[in-house]
Amino acid sequence: MTDISKLGEFGLIDHLTKDIKPQNESTLYGIGDDCAVLHYPSSEVLVSTDMLMEGVHFDLTYIDLQHLGYKSAMVNISDIFAMNGTPKQITVSIALSKRFTVEDLEMFYSGVRAACEKWNVDIVGGDTTSSYTGLAISITCIGEAKKEDIVYRNGAKDTDLICVSGDLGAAYMGLQLLEREKVVYYQQVDEARKNNNQRMLDELRNFQPDFAGKEYLLQRQLQTEARGDIVKQLKEENIHPTAMIDISDGLSSELIHICKQSNCGCRVYEKNIPIDYQTAIMAEELTINVTTCALNGGEDYELLFTVPIGDHEKISNMQNVKIIGHITKPELGMQLVTRDNNEFELKAQGWNPIKD
Ligand code: ADP
Ligand code: MG
Repeated sequence: MTDISKLGEFGLIDHLTKDIKPQNESTLYGIGDDCAVLHYPSSEVLVSTDMLMEGVHFDLTYIDLQHLGYKSAMVNISDIFAMNGTPKQITVSIALSKRFTVEDLEMFYSGVRAACEKWNVDIVGGDTTSSYTGLAISITCIGEAKKEDIVYRNGAKDTDLICVSGDLGAAYMGLQLLEREKVVYYQQVDEARKNNNQRMLDELRNFQPDFAGKEYLLQRQLQTEARGDIVKQLKEENIHPTAMIDISDGLSSELIHICKQSNCGCRVYEKNIPIDYQTAIMAEELTINVTTCALNGGEDYELLFTVPIGDHEKISNMQNVKIIGHITKPELGMQLVTRDNNEFELKAQGWNPIKD
């Protein structure tokens, strides 16, 4: 393991970025000067930024640095897709405490670069600084879209169909699974310590968490994917969503954003919410209502969008997209219609960092 002080700040930046070569025409100049230089002669420029703090947004006992790098970049790329845009550049800023090594950062950057390569995004800059308490990551993604193609949260209209890509709740169940295994591990360590059982303590060094049959949940938590494929499909089918958002805080919370900003209500049907088999099994094991997971789970990074009712047939034929309800007049409120036909008001129980 190599101590960062061996390279120094500039040496470290150089080491991590020396073979990064911009691929996009809009990247005139990338890493190496006071600014990157971008060129967008005929489109609008989209900018999105996110900050991730160790202990608040991620826990390095669950996620390794390579997956963390991948996820940090992907969640920003996802924001550009959620505007119906094309991501083109990112900047990566990190604050590091002393416990991180050069090799740790190599892992982190290999994740960031894998995410960028997947969507042909250039890393054009960043900042590197130190922190006393842990790792902080701030990523900014820049993208482009034609003015008429941009989809905001505020365009949903009465009678529009509400659609969602993929399935929901799995990333949250993945996190619950990781937490459960961590608890199991520490219970065993406590037990061994209490009994002064050195052999058991030694064995616990090779503790293997039990993830059998739940690989999809882990993948959804650790290997976040942005749904650029859905944006592309919509373009190919000539479908222009009236409103769109990516699901980071849970379906309820994002639907409320769309409804409030579009000044409308909605009906969402419990029976139509897409849920994977493994998500359902895990929810049952934990005696959590699976619909609650899908509504409030978060970190799915699926796309939630509305389309005019005239697109019903086209949407119905699309792979990986489900119609889960429809937009109503605002006075009808925002309601979930359960399997037994009861109505519940949708509430944003999604994770809110300001609240607690
Ligand atoms: P400045 O003093 O102008 O902030 P820096 O020495 O911090 O310049 O950065 C030099 C170059 O390296 C800049 O192009 C900057 O964008 C890039 N850079 C710095 N840190 C990172 C990083 N973590 N990832 C990618 N690029 C970085
Ligand atoms: Mg700097």
